[in-house]
Amino acid sequence: MTTEENIPTKFEDLNLIPPLLQAVKRVGYKVASPIQAQLIPVAATGADVIGQAQTGTGKTAAYLIPFMNAWRGGDLKKPQAIVLAPTRELAIQVGEEAVKLSPSKHFRSAVIYGGAGFGLQNQQLAEGRTLIVGTPGRVLDHIGRGTLQLDKVKYLVLDEADRMLDIGFRPQIERILKTITRDRQTLLMSATLPADVLKLTERYMRNPVHVNVSPEVVTVDRIDQSYITVDEDRKTELLLKLLATDNPRQCIIFVERKRGCDNLARQLKRHKIRCAAIHGDLQQNMRERIMAAFRDGRISVLIATDVMSRGIDVSGISHIVNYDLPNDNENYVHRIGRTGRMGADGKAITFVMPDEGEVLTEIEMTINKIIPARIVEGFEAFRPKAPPKSDEPPKQSLPVYGRAGRKYSNRL
Ligand code: AMP
Repeated sequence: MTTEENIPTKFEDLNLIPPLLQAVKRVGYKVASPIQAQLIPVAATGADVIGQAQTGTGKTAAYLIPFMNAWRGGDLKKPQAIVLAPTRELAIQVGEEAVKLSPSKHFRSAVIYGGAGFGLQNQQLAEGRTLIVGTPGRVLDHIGRGTLQLDKVKYLVLDEADRMLDIGFRPQIERILKTITRDRQTLLMSATLPADVLKLTERYMRNPVHVNVSPEVVTVDRIDQSYITVDEDRKTELLLKLLATDNPRQCIIFVERKRGCDNLARQLKRHKIRCAAIHGDLQQNMRERIMAAFRDGRISVLIATDVMSRGIDVSGISHIVNYDLPNDNENYVHRIGRTGRMGADGKAITFVMPDEGEVLTEIEMTINKIIPARIVEGFEAFRPKAPPKSDEPPKQSLPVYGRAGRKYSNRL
């Protein structure tokens, strides 16, 4: 983190127990990230905390460390902490972080998510786990089957609470919370705090302290963003050219639809690009295999729908290509936030079709930043249209005006 004097906070200054300090060093974290430096001391007092932070800021360690630091063993049979996460991918990542930071071999966790069999999960729960990381649906399944009891839980984290509510997890969350004692510490992590999240904080938290590191601005600022105007029928050609010229180390290409995702993957494979499509229709084990291949570099290009735009943390992604514009401006931020992780630099390139100037302007207003145009020779999207058949003069395209009267006619 950087304090007011811009001095990073050392983990040594956070009153961590020696095994946790060693784990942090072993994992290679040199200094605490801003959310860690701010959240860990507050949570250490036992207060409920609302942590406003996105994935990529070190938020997972920020909420795991206070529990691990205060943990002193005890009854190892029943879980003492639970993290609820909106997606399986995020749950898996949180589980991995918990393993990395684990302060003792007796501190064990289980990741509980849908789409996977019950066998291993049942076995782990029967053995006993200190920490459960799970998606709400499957956690509730286990509670219903009697394989999971949360009556010993004293530490609860709702991760990406805004996303969980978006997905419609509110009823499940409420049912889970009813099985956990009120005498607990609750941490709620959310990139944004819309009214429904605030309602959740009022219902389930006690005098929460708000910790805000406004990460989106920071994250987005480090990313070299540009857009390229392109005709629809030339997007793939342009993409191939970009992949050849920019030679990304690792790249995620966002497309709008699942079918488009599969089609594009087929076309890229024909050009010998090591890629895979990933979207909500794929079986969970397939998604995991693809993510593992992407993480360890066997695949360098991932073609994804917006399902993947949040929560996924793969360090080393050098490029994001918005092959199709996102439907929701906020998703632009989530998509490009997959690069530029933990202070690394990344590039985000957005394809804009000639009639999409206004959408681009809206995105710029969302991020409060002008995205510069990138010119790729041979791809100017101003190919002359066939002359009108009548004697009427050709219609002029209307310029679009963005913030402060800026003229976007070059985007039409
Ligand atoms: P998160 O926001 O929790 O998804 O974390 C993003 C990435 O940053 C993960 O790969 C973490 O392992 C890594 N990370 C977390 N804390 C630190 C830190 N203090 N220094 C460097 N990397 C970190």
